[in-house]
Amino acid sequence: MDRIYDLIIIGCGPAGLTAAIYAVRAGLSFLLLEGAYAPGGQAANTGVIENYPGLPGIQGSELSEAMVRQAEGLGASITEAEVAGIELLPEGVKRVCCRDAKAYEAKAVVIASGTSHRRLGVPGEEELEGCGVSYCAVCDGAFFRGRTAVVVGGGNTAADEAVFLAGICKEVKLIHRRDTLRADRILQERLRALENVALILNATVEEICGDGAVEAVLVRNKTDGTVSRMKTDAVFAAVGTEPQTEWCRGLLDMDSVGYIRAGEDCATNIPGIFAAGDVRTKKLRQIVTAVSDGACAIKSVQEYLNAWS
Ligand code: NAP
Repeated sequence: MDRIYDLIIIGCGPAGLTAAIYAVRAGLSFLLLEGAYAPGGQAANTGVIENYPGLPGIQGSELSEAMVRQAEGLGASITEAEVAGIELLPEGVKRVCCRDAKAYEAKAVVIASGTSHRRLGVPGEEELEGCGVSYCAVCDGAFFRGRTAVVVGGGNTAADEAVFLAGICKEVKLIHRRDTLRADRILQERLRALENVALILNATVEEICGDGAVEAVLVRNKTDGTVSRMKTDAVFAAVGTEPQTEWCRGLLDMDSVGYIRAGEDCATNIPGIFAAGDVRTKKLRQIVTAVSDGACAIKSVQEYLNAWS
């Protein structure tokens, strides 16, 4: 092993990039690891962001690129590496092991590995992923210009996706399993004002049908139990997210879903390992709370390193 860094940051979304910005300024030696995807995390695939203070209306990709530029401009460099696990070595050293068999060592680790899209878990979803089934309207919506799309979910993401797709598609159907959406009121109002968006409430998607491409969904009406076939060219699933923590299960305390238990100081149950951003237990998962975590995590890392013997 060549060297022991002060810190390894895992993940290049808003939390990881903010941690990198603060780590440079704190004079720490560190590695910033990012998996197979482009840096920026989920924010990079978000359309217009209206609630990031000071930058009203910025595109998610633009904000992410600006964060990457800022971190790199200060001297941080991103190493492509998919992390497979962390080993605890004597004297508090942590070894971060990667899928390509490389390993890196540090005194402290900030886990900012974020979340991934939850699947619907219905027949046809897996087979038709990339052939009409998508989890990102900003990424794939343009393929369905002038066509019909179904969005599944009732949260802010589903509402955002439906509004975005309404500007591209001929017709959008938002299917939600309850009789009310949980999306912010401003998004709901925007959605209801769109003539080419239909809300189908109290309904679940039972199956996605198609031979090589999405052709229809089977929709169960929860009120009367009937199932009907609804034609569509695409299905955008927006039913929430799951923490990307499979690789560190058994090492860190997690809640029942797999979010790493950590408070505002980002400290986990293992001294020197911190969790920042969407990956930790918290009330509100937003870009603004992720960047806050990135900064707080480095404050905690500094305190931990100051006590390092
Ligand atoms: P979310 O708030 O957890 O909403 C997920 C939605 O999917 C819920 O309506 C849920 O139904 C539904 N759902 C879950 N599993 C399902 C299944 N198997 N089948 C059908 N429906 C299912 O997730 P999100 O919308 O992705 O948002 C995640 C976080 O990012 C939130 O904190 C959100 O506020 C934030 N966000 C914010 C913005 C913004 O501020 N503009 C934009 C995007 C995301 P129930 O309602 O029945 O539980």
